[in-house]
Amino acid sequence: MFKKEDISMAPTLAETPEGISGQGFFATSMEKAVGLARKNSLWPLPFATSCCGIEFMATMGAHYDLARFGSERLSFSPRQSDLLMVMGTVAKKMGPVLREVYIQMAEPKWVIAVGACASSGGIFDTYSVLQGIDRIIPVDVYVPGCPPRPEQIIDGIIKIQELVGNESLRRRNSKEYQELMDQYNIE
Ligand code: SF4
Repeated sequence: MFKKEDISMAPTLAETPEGISGQGFFATSMEKAVGLARKNSLWPLPFATSCCGIEFMATMGAHYDLARFGSERLSFSPRQSDLLMVMGTVAKKMGPVLREVYIQMAEPKWVIAVGACASSGGIFDTYSVLQGIDRIIPVDVYVPGCPPRPEQIIDGIIKIQELVGNESLRRRNSKEYQELMDQYNIE
């Protein structure tokens, strides 16, 4: 977990992927080059329904400045985003809307459940609240806390960046991925 002091001093340069370098050249695999580009240009769609969304606003502000991670371009159009960030309590009535948003996003796409409510329903163990968004869509990273601090949200973004940077270009066409989608009844 990052401390506040670490975050504000975090380097802003993207790390060079593994490869072979010599005088005047650098060579790496296509997969690593694509991973490098993807992980440093994530376009988040903030699906914020309550208090955790306020922490996200702080994360986007000048002090924490998510732009340093290449993620300052928020998208409110599912078709132009690749990172769905679900922040807040999701009522069961809202479930189909969230699922529709996820389905409308183009592949490759990733999902973060930010905070206890999105991850598990949080303190709202009640008939009207979805007990975790992974009941209706697959989740890649869970950020704990009620609410999580901006440092934790940034930590979640960094975890997603690790996944994105190391993901095989073939994963989305794999049998395992298809099985995952089948579990959620998503074509
Ligand atoms: S996890 Fe806590 S802070 Fe976040 S939406 Fe739920 S009640 Fe609010």
